[in-house]
Amino acid sequence: MCGPVITIRTQRSLVVIYLIINRSNFDLTTNMAAPTREGTANDVLDVRQFLEGWAGLVGNSQLQKHEDDDQEAKIANDMSISREMVEELASVCSTDTLLCGSEPEEGNLTAFPEVNLLTVRCQEESVQKRENDNIFRTKVSRKMRYKYVQTLAPPCQSEGSIECPIKIPEVLLNVKIFRPLYSKKKQTFLDQEFQVIGSNTLTDLRDKYSCVADFSVPGEFSEDPDMPQDNRAKDLFKSGFFFIEGTFYNDMRYDDCRDYSKVIIDWAKEKERGLGPYTSAKMETTRFVDLKLRLGQPYVYLHQGECEHLVVFSDLRLHGADDPQDAKAYPLLVHKSKPRRQLCIACQTMTARWIVHGSPLAPEDPSHFCDVCFKMLHYDKNKKKLVEFKAFPFLDKTAVF
Ligand SMILES: [Zn+2]
Ligand SMILES: [Zn+2]
Repeated sequence: MCGPVITIRTQRSLVVIYLIINRSNFDLTTNMAAPTREGTANDVLDVRQFLEGWAGLVGNSQLQKHEDDDQEAKIANDMSISREMVEELASVCSTDTLLCGSEPEEGNLTAFPEVNLLTVRCQEESVQKRENDNIFRTKVSRKMRYKYVQTLAPPCQSEGSIECPIKIPEVLLNVKIFRPLYSKKKQTFLDQEFQVIGSNTLTDLRDKYSCVADFSVPGEFSEDPDMPQDNRAKDLFKSGFFFIEGTFYNDMRYDDCRDYSKVIIDWAKEKERGLGPYTSAKMETTRFVDLKLRLGQPYVYLHQGECEHLVVFSDLRLHGADDPQDAKAYPLLVHKSKPRRQLCIACQTMTARWIVHGSPLAPEDPSHFCDVCFKMLHYDKNKKKLVEFKAFPFLDKTAVF
């Protein structure tokens, strides 16, 4: 199965990488789809140089957490004033002094009936319409920018729970990984966003990132859909690479890992392409601090032969006192997309468990079916196929994560 699949997949990889090389102004720094918006990537940054340069300027004591810090005493000392004066300033400058005592309750838009602003009227009408009109409510909901993304709470940071304290100074990178571009709309959607530290290896990120393709069951099951589905794709096909600034970082931790990048590097060597030269390195020995990268530039993560994700580094800064202090917490998942259930095309109720290709009984090709509808439609009483088709197990994201 691997041979022809790899060939097709490699051709797609070449196209994606070619597009990326030739479209440096592709803006993927936002959470949602934005391929039509113009944007530019940053200049190439050397992460190690960034760390050493800024750590020298800031100093380690600024980056560490001091539990016994007395902020008021520090301010009094810095400003050469008494502690009482600092307390008075804190009280006079407090945001509480901005309140007049008759503020509306949170979320209550009708608290000021005498206000006749157009914006307030429009908002009130919109809220009313959303309450009464289901179609309008769905339309508005679909356009909400961050409705597909949820923010995760940072881990608990109590002193006793830290197993492996961060070695200061350290850098912190934000890495966005997008869903594969299967849709004909060619829109990019954020799948997960992580914070990684400079000492994390690229394989640390790979292991932390969950893609449903790794959990799928490879193989065609139409002859016997009750056959046990034990083998997960991640246990069978362990290869993968990150493509960052002209270098392919291959995961070669296991004996059966393949160097996916070789065929691409050889292809790019041909003079008429005008590409490269590209190099390769090992994913497991490369740390984020060793990278040279551009913020906002889309890179590639490829695994399972053809599952291609765009990867964007959106932020680079020093690790600070307010960040989680346990090195084991990283790569830290900070945002993830809300999974949407794939429904059975027949009953429109159950979650799909099968994807069927070439079935004359199905309304679309391919079609998703739940287990009950799939078997009722395609098999007789003796579990014999009624028509020719191919069936592959389908793993819905909501069932895995
Ligand atoms: Zn994937
Ligand atoms: Zn069904």
